[in-house]
Amino acid sequence: MAKTVVVGGGVYGSAIAWGLASRGVEVLLLEAQTVASGASGGPGRRGVRANYRDHRELPLMARARDIWPDLHETLGTGPLFERTGHLMLIERKRDLANAQARIDLQNRHGISTSMLSADAVRDLEPGVAPSVIAAVHCPGDGVSDHTATTRAFAAKAKEAGVDLREGVRVASVTERGGRAVALETVDGDEIDIGGDLLLFANSSVRDLVRPWADLPTWNLALQVLVSRPLSDNPVRHLIGHASRTLSLKAEEGGRLMISGGHLGHWNPETRTGTALPEAIAANVADAAAVYPSLAGLEVEVADADHLEAESVDSIPTIDRVPGLSNAFMGCGWTGHGWAIAPAVAEMVTKWALEGLRPPELAPFGYARFGGRG
Ligand SMILES: Cc1cc2nc3c(=O)[nH]c(=O)nc-3n(C[C@H](O)[C@H](O)[C@H](O)COP(=O)(O)OP(=O)(O)OC[C@H]3O[C@@H](n4cnc5c(N)ncnc54)[C@H](O)[C@@H]3O)c2cc1C
Repeated sequence: MAKTVVVGGGVYGSAIAWGLASRGVEVLLLEAQTVASGASGGPGRRGVRANYRDHRELPLMARARDIWPDLHETLGTGPLFERTGHLMLIERKRDLANAQARIDLQNRHGISTSMLSADAVRDLEPGVAPSVIAAVHCPGDGVSDHTATTRAFAAKAKEAGVDLREGVRVASVTERGGRAVALETVDGDEIDIGGDLLLFANSSVRDLVRPWADLPTWNLALQVLVSRPLSDNPVRHLIGHASRTLSLKAEEGGRLMISGGHLGHWNPETRTGTALPEAIAANVADAAAVYPSLAGLEVEVADADHLEAESVDSIPTIDRVPGLSNAFMGCGWTGHGWAIAPAVAEMVTKWALEGLRPPELAPFGYARFGGRG
């Protein structure tokens, strides 16, 4: 049987490899380091959030919210998802009109969302600062263990017969007659492709498809902080903020995860990231401005070791590779590709098997950027 090759052992590559193999496709999954060493791994948990998501991703999120609660049963693990609800906190009056528009839009997509008054916010989050005047509440949102989920997808993929090879970094794609026929690795090995090629290597996709497409994406080392255990962690929900670079999640042992988009420094030689003191201080200061009891919080882990590709319009590209009739690509998740992953992986798998693009993926086509391809 022709061998399909998936590049990237993150959540996307692992879930797609499993999806294809469980439908009888012979799959080789290539990962440069180890499974879940990229954006799908690292400390803390990831937000599974429909609230304030780009409108083009809401249909994907609606499907993902059907999958997440029972995913652990499908994958045969302990619980992976916790429904905490998401609150987007608002401190500025000028953010209220935007909030109302999002509430209306999300409800139209079947994602139950409401505006909370200042008092109602305090019923749910008693520790917020007096400056918080309202919040947008999305009770169906939650958090999930990204590392465990990604490893579970990879384990299922292996169980379904996927040949998983870690430590194999793909350098380039070889084309013949409009098809991807082989991959060359950085060690100079050549790997034949008999079936499809699925490029879901996040930070590397742009370089790998460069001969055929100019993806307007770039890589960022997003920072995550985890606090030392707090005697009284004030954060009860998944928290976002309408005007600060801030995301908060309660973690096990009274710890708090603080993220939201501050950046670390990436060293391309060593392929490692380092959190920067000024970004750590800024993230902690924002957290304490919104939850005053967090003033003086001590950071236990500061991580910026997990690259993510950002896209010029803040939504991913999920498409065939122009000029390679058997190749697909997915990247540019822009810091919010986790929550939609089980739904997108399911849709890409169906597309590869049946040859028809699922309509929900139409907004993510490469043609939206114009130009070459
Ligand atoms: C700090 C941080 C916080 C985030 N928070 C959230 C959140 O709260 N909610 C949310 O929805 N999303 C969040 N995201 C985004 C989400 O985690 C990512 O969009 C998602 O995990 C991407 O999955 P992936 O499989 O495409 O990429 P990755 O997990 O990066 O997997 C790609 C894999 O490809 C491998 N690879 C790279 N190049 C090559 C190559 N040349 N050859 C072979 N293998 C290669 C890498 O080693 C990597 O393992 C966050 C991301 C980060 C970094």
